[in-house]
This record gives sequence, structure tokens and C-alpha cells, in this order.
Amino acid sequence: MKYTIVHPMDAHSCHGVERQGSDKPQSLVHNPVMLSLHELNWVKTWIQMGQPFVTPVSPTPLSDPRWVAVNDELALSLGLAPEWWRDPRALACMAGNAPPPLGQHWASVYSGHQFGVWAGQLGDGRAMSLGEVQLPPPPQGTAGHEGQHQGTWELQLKGAGRTPFSRFGDGRAVLRSSIREYLCSAAMQGLGIPSTQALCLVASDDPVVRESVETAAVVCRVSPSFIRFGHFEHFAAAQDTDALQALLDHVIHHCPPGLAVTQVDEPDNADPTIAWLDQVVKLTADLMADWQSVGFCHGVMNTDNMSVWGLTLDYGPFQFMDAYDPHHICNHTDSHGRYAYAQQPRVAHWNLLALAHALHPLVSDGQGLQAALNGFVPRFEASMMSRWAHKLGLPPSLQTPQALMALEAWMPAWLSLLARHKADFTRSWRGLARLTAELAEDPKADVRSLARQHLQLTLATDPDTVNLLAQHRTWLAQQGLGLNEAASVMLGRNPARVLRNHLAELAIRQAQAGDVSEIHRLQSALKNPYTDADQWAQYAQDPPDWAHDLHISCSS
Ligand code: AMP
Ligand code: MG
Repeated sequence: MKYTIVHPMDAHSCHGVERQGSDKPQSLVHNPVMLSLHELNWVKTWIQMGQPFVTPVSPTPLSDPRWVAVNDELALSLGLAPEWWRDPRALACMAGNAPPPLGQHWASVYSGHQFGVWAGQLGDGRAMSLGEVQLPPPPQGTAGHEGQHQGTWELQLKGAGRTPFSRFGDGRAVLRSSIREYLCSAAMQGLGIPSTQALCLVASDDPVVRESVETAAVVCRVSPSFIRFGHFEHFAAAQDTDALQALLDHVIHHCPPGLAVTQVDEPDNADPTIAWLDQVVKLTADLMADWQSVGFCHGVMNTDNMSVWGLTLDYGPFQFMDAYDPHHICNHTDSHGRYAYAQQPRVAHWNLLALAHALHPLVSDGQGLQAALNGFVPRFEASMMSRWAHKLGLPPSLQTPQALMALEAWMPAWLSLLARHKADFTRSWRGLARLTAELAEDPKADVRSLARQHLQLTLATDPDTVNLLAQHRTWLAQQGLGLNEAASVMLGRNPARVLRNHLAELAIRQAQAGDVSEIHRLQSALKNPYTDADQWAQYAQDPPDWAHDLHISCSS
């Protein structure tokens, strides 16, 4: 099958909309030197660790590869010229059909616990590193804009063929799952949730056998680091303490900028292993709070899918929940609901325990590790409450302990109401924000009719909802916050659009039929999900009935 659009990026800039000058990311202003893929400052930090951590591998070429999508902003952050992808060498490189700029691909070994059971050695079975890119420092006098990464970024091809760690797998990824990974990486960026990113997506007609015969694709994903809990578990299980120590030294010395958790109460003589675990605990707890706050279910929180830097990693059967159900299971293969929405923080804690076990040979006694682990629950609870407060209009700068304590008294009732009415998670929160904004404009407006306008009818007409809305306003007033101010905070914190399963599915079906334009539209719509743009109204609607019957499994 041939795509109707030869170069999707030709049709409508990269993402289907023309960008305004003022919209241009700061990195473009800061970094006027624009390069081709091969001219970037390629370095080796992680991959120079060599054996036993990383192994040279060779990709399996794809037949007649073609571009499906390119992430312009990410390309700019890397220093790539806007049309970098037009270079035929770039397509060959991103398909795994040519050597990368450093001349070699690498795969790394890790192990892990899958569904709570030790799975032994896993490793990069279908991911291979192209090398790392050193980002240029921001010009003197500028600190770089928020989110602009200034260290090294590793580029990996996912789906470029077998590696020594492929076990029984074919080393490939299908177009369906690659579109989901590509779009969700962008969606997370738009939401402001830490995640690996995706630079581009390349497809081919090469058949790939899953439940049915599908076609192959390769995503180039980008991250300051792809190191997982499972990397540590691997060397602990192999009882290779030297390697374990070298791995720890590497991660400690290459803490990606912006990811360090400020250690105000850390004594100078703290054991670095424990201080580092403490940091991973905090980053992971914060990530869980981020996920819960937008109704994101990862689906396969095995320890080999957990980033040591608290990044969302390995997009498989993930889902942004539609109807709110704390017991929601997004992964059709997860029959016992181990990774159900409400379980995610608990599972993260369990996974951190597995990481702490792996670090045990590096410390003189386990008490410090235990203490670091014990920090998970309070950190998660504080982060979670802070995010709920923020979604309800109170920004972190105004979050006093009293305000959060008062919130705890009524906030769970809001979630219970959503669950009771199986109300759409994203739309209910956004509806609450819009209702608050209208009330701010017209304080005499009838709250009941505003509720009917902005919330699902059964939720709006529940007497408990009206009480709760009054509690919300009282709480805001107690914090000295005007409705106007609160409403604008709420609108900036509760997305109007998320990458719902059915939206991804529609983009997939169209792409499988040869039209990739829906991928570009969705990518644009999810870039800034905190606006009510009319242009993207269709993405903010309730899911259609058929969305309930979509079963997403581990098959990818
Ligand atoms: P995942 O469930 O995607 O996190 O993958 C678990 C392990 O299986 C990892 O080691 C992957 O690299 C490997 N894997 C998954 N799919 C494939 C595939 N098609 N070919 C080779 N290895 C795979
Ligand atoms: Mg994985």
C-alpha cells in the first residue's frame, strides 16, 4: 500500500498548521546554528560504557521507508535545521538502512520484574541507540527556557530489527503501536509531564506478524537517558557488583539537567547510593502524581519499563481514562488489574523496592535504603494533593499546609462523585474549570444551570455536586483567591484534550489506509491541550460508543 501523501510535511508544514512567529520555541531564538542530522554534536557518554552494558548491533533494513511524521520542536531543540528530514541520509538513518553518524548502533542489556515476577534478562530487544547528541549551551546571560534540556540526549530507533536481546521477538514494531508511542510522547510534552520524546516516525510496507499481519514502522525516540530500574536489577542478579557500581557512578555523574531533586536536607556525608535512591523515589512519586492527575494509565509498569529519571517510558497499552473508574484496567492482557489506575502509585513503590534490593550490595547496611523507600508515600501524597489543589485553582506558590489540609476534607468527594456517575475524567475537570470561569464573569449566574451546561447531566443534577461546588468556592475564598484568578489557573491545569484511545485509533486506521494527515492534526491539537480552540473541538468531545470496545493489549 502506498501513502497518498509522499512527504506529509510538505502538505502543511510539519503538523498541519502554520506556526505564528510568536509561537516559535525559544530554542530557535537561542540556537541559530541549524544543522543536518549528521552535523549534530554526536558524543558517547552512556554508550562509551561498552561491555557489559552496551553491545554493538546492526539494524535490519526496511524496504522503501517513508516519512510519516516529524516533531519540529524537538528537532529544533536538538539543533536540527527545519528541513533536516529532506536529506535522504536522514531517512536512511531513521529507517535503520544506513549507519548512524557515529558509524555504529548499540543495544543495552537489562532485566526486570514483569507483572511482579522475575523475568530474567530482557534488554533492548528492538531498540538500538544511534548515539548521543550534546546540546549547545544557551548563549551567555540566558538560562535557557524552561524545559530546554542542555545536556546530552540519546537517540534510539525502536523497531529497527533484532538484537542479541530480542529473545523470540522479531525486533520490529508495527505502525499501530508506533503511532501511539509517537503521539503520546508529544501529548505528554504538551501536558508538561516528564517523558521520553519521539523525533520522527518512519514506515514501510514490510509485513510484521502479530494477531494479524500488520506493517513495520520505526520511531526515533529521544531522552536524556533510557536507563531503567531493570538495568540495576540485571547486574545485581548477575552478582556483578563492579558493574553495578559503575552503572550507579554513571547515573550519578550524568544526572540530566533539570531532573535533579533539590536535596536541601541531605547531609554532606550522605551515602551517594542512598542519596540517589532518594532522588529516584521523589522523581517517581512526582511522576505518579502527574499520571494520576490526568487519568493516565501506563498499562505495563514492569520494572524494565521504569525510568530511573522519573520519565514516562515505553508506551504500550497506555490509556488516558475516559469515564472515571479508579479500578480501570487499560491493558487487555492485565487480567488481574495489577496495573489498574488506582494501583499505579503502589506499583511504583513496589518497583522502587526492587530497585532498592538491587542497590543493596553497594551499601554497608540496608537501613538507609529503607529510609529512602519510606519517603515514597509521603512524597506521593504531598505531590498528589498539590496537583489536585492546582487543578482546583490554587497554584503551588499559594499552597499552605492549612489550604491542603482543608482540601483533603472535601476533595475525595469530588472523585467519588466522578466515579459514581462514571463521568468522563478529562471533561469533568475541564467542565469544572469552565464553570468556574463563567461564574467569575457573572457571580450571579445560576450554578445549577452552569453545572448542567458544563458537566455530564447525571453528575450536574446530583445534589452532592451542587454542595461540592459550593465547598470549592468557599475553599478558594478561604485562600484569599478570587474566582477569576482561580479560573485561569484551572483552565491552565485541566486539559481540554488528551490522547484518548479512540483518537489514536482513528489516526491509526487512516494511516493504515494510507492517509497520515490525522497524525499531524492530532499532534498539533495536543501540543497545547490547555486551550479551548474551536479548531480542535472534535477532540474534546465524549468518546463514541465504539471506544468502549477498544481492547489494547501488549501486542505491539
Ligand atoms: P515491553 O513489554 O515492550 O516492555 O518489552 C519487554 C521486552 O521484550 C523488552 O526486552 C523488549 O525489548 C522485548 N520485546 C518486545 N517486543 C519485541 C519484539 N517485537 N522483538 C524483540 N524484542 C521485543
Ligand atoms: Mg519495555
